[in-house]
Amino acid sequence: MFSLTPTELERYQRQIMLPGFGEEAQNKLRTSTVLVTGVGGLGGTAALYLAVAGIGRLILVRGGNLRRDDMNRQVLMTEDWVGKPRIEKAKESLAAINPDVEIEAIPEYVTASNVDSLVLQADITLDCAHNFVERDLLNAACVRWQKPMVEAAMNGMEAYLTTIIPGKTPCLSCLFPEKPEWDKRGFGVLGAVSGTLACLTALEAIKVITGLGQPLFSHLLMMDLGTLNFSKLHTYHDRHCPVCGTQK
Ligand SMILES: [Zn+2]
Repeated sequence: MFSLTPTELERYQRQIMLPGFGEEAQNKLRTSTVLVTGVGGLGGTAALYLAVAGIGRLILVRGGNLRRDDMNRQVLMTEDWVGKPRIEKAKESLAAINPDVEIEAIPEYVTASNVDSLVLQADITLDCAHNFVERDLLNAACVRWQKPMVEAAMNGMEAYLTTIIPGKTPCLSCLFPEKPEWDKRGFGVLGAVSGTLACLTALEAIKVITGLGQPLFSHLLMMDLGTLNFSKLHTYHDRHCPVCGTQK
């Protein structure tokens, strides 16, 4: 039986004392690997909350260099890093905050050639990718390998969240058979909006891993952060879904 170290017991004391959490849930986090894609305002902030919660291993995937216009929302970044690969800074910041987390930083975008090996290494995937090409690749790979995926997306002041369990819940393609128009262009975003969604995304992963609370299975949380109208819609499995339809 694995036991937590004195440092771990101290660092995570305030969450271990949560009803229904305990050392058992902490150990589940410690032995889990989470794949985070699109490590930006959304994925980077979700990775931060997974790191402080004590996830054992994070696989961070994001290509490109840091731009100054990322700085209004990418809280793992620092001004002196503008122009350099953002994934390296993400790893450095997370390691400074929690040195016990094993972090693999991959300076790539999600592609058809790397998606299977990425998904297979992880217990759960956070889809914080920036376009539906990457989102569709992740969804199909998670369905193919029967891996849970937390799906988080934003459009301006609106945010969407659901958790996909292949074979049990609808998949992303069931929910969005046609790609939203807003995917095709950049949109305005406040860091507090991407950060709000990021916290909920990290929380979904923690719930799935530990069994705490009730994740958004077969439900889509729709949030308008401008008006603070939140709604939770039941989602339906599409039996003719080209991705998961043959499974049920
Ligand atoms: Zn489907």
